[in-house]
Amino acid sequence: MEAKTIYLDNNATTRVAPEVFEAMKPFFCERYGNPSSIHRFGGSVAADIENARVAVAELIGANYRNKDGFATEIIFTSCGTESDNTALKCAVCAKSDRKKIITSAVEHPGINHYLDELSRHGYEIVKIGVDGQGRIKMDEFCAALDDNTAVVSMMYANNETGTIFPVAELCRLAHEAGAYFHTDAVQAAGKIAIDVDRDQFDFLSISGHKLHAPKGVGVLFARRGIPFTPLILGGHQEKMRRGGTENVASIIGLGEACKMAKAALPQEVKYLAGLRDAFETKLQSTIPSIRINGDPEHRLPNTASVSFEDIEGESILMLLDQFGICASSGSACTTGSLEPSHVMRAMNIPYNAAHGTIRFSLSKYNTAEELDFTAEKLVPIIARLREMSPYWKQK
Ligand code: PLP
Repeated sequence: MEAKTIYLDNNATTRVAPEVFEAMKPFFCERYGNPSSIHRFGGSVAADIENARVAVAELIGANYRNKDGFATEIIFTSCGTESDNTALKCAVCAKSDRKKIITSAVEHPGINHYLDELSRHGYEIVKIGVDGQGRIKMDEFCAALDDNTAVVSMMYANNETGTIFPVAELCRLAHEAGAYFHTDAVQAAGKIAIDVDRDQFDFLSISGHKLHAPKGVGVLFARRGIPFTPLILGGHQEKMRRGGTENVASIIGLGEACKMAKAALPQEVKYLAGLRDAFETKLQSTIPSIRINGDPEHRLPNTASVSFEDIEGESILMLLDQFGICASSGSACTTGSLEPSHVMRAMNIPYNAAHGTIRFSLSKYNTAEELDFTAEKLVPIIARLREMSPYWKQK
């Protein structure tokens, strides 16, 4: 008999909420018109898209509405990566006299690889380091910031450790230097409160599938007044800022997911932090030589990054998988050599710990029983792997 799945990999992707799925259903076989059509059958769908746009805006505190009541600072994209790429493209085009971009050493590839491309076009890319808890080094940041900086792009919260950056402060400093500020909020949206107007961000990225909406839909918040350069050129959709017929059902789903996230946010933060803290405490009291990664004061409530010293994360994952437990590791198994992730390396986590790092990322659908079960199973798994580990035996 197959084991029941215990899904603790919610920073990778989330289950579509049943309510979200229900809201999407009519847009496949009944209301399938093209929102750009003149006829009412298609055109009526456009109103639903605008309602979804308002729901996204309300989740992130984007208060501007145009004369029709539309939240025009919200642009629907295909994913978080597209939103990240678009934000960077817009920002550098809007400040074409400046040739420096500042980011952190722990960003997602959606930022890093676009910046690699910009560096091939002559941009200076400065990656600010982090400390052992994944906190941005503010002195390095302030030293790098100057009047040649076009944009500062710093993630809201890290996908591996959950560490939350002081984005409001970073944005304020970027603006003082005349630079734009973008934040990749893919891991933060729906998990912690975001207020783009209070914090005055210029650009912010969201991905639907991280907050119980489907894959294949994302959002870019782009503050009005900043000249916009689209990444995808085509039709007049999204007010000429993103060509391509809208992914209507997924946009409706994302709107519903944002409404749900906003309504439940304080309770969910409390629930998830409670589950996560109890899980970490249990591990600390039953398994020796582990470390909890990330900033204990400023961390996503759903993320536990745990390093089990002297063993390999991949082996832990495979043994957990036998019990139906899904988590992920902090290594990138690309070339056959298990290199710790760039996040672990930037944090200077010792090799023997970085290799054995597992990310458990929770959602509202997880229960205390599931986490107790996982903690219990980890005890013999770690003991067994350490028995086989030459590094552990040397200790
Ligand atoms: N940014 C961060 C911090 C992420 O964690 C992810 C996905 O893991 C992305 C961007 C990319 O989002 P998407 O999968 O929607 O392209």
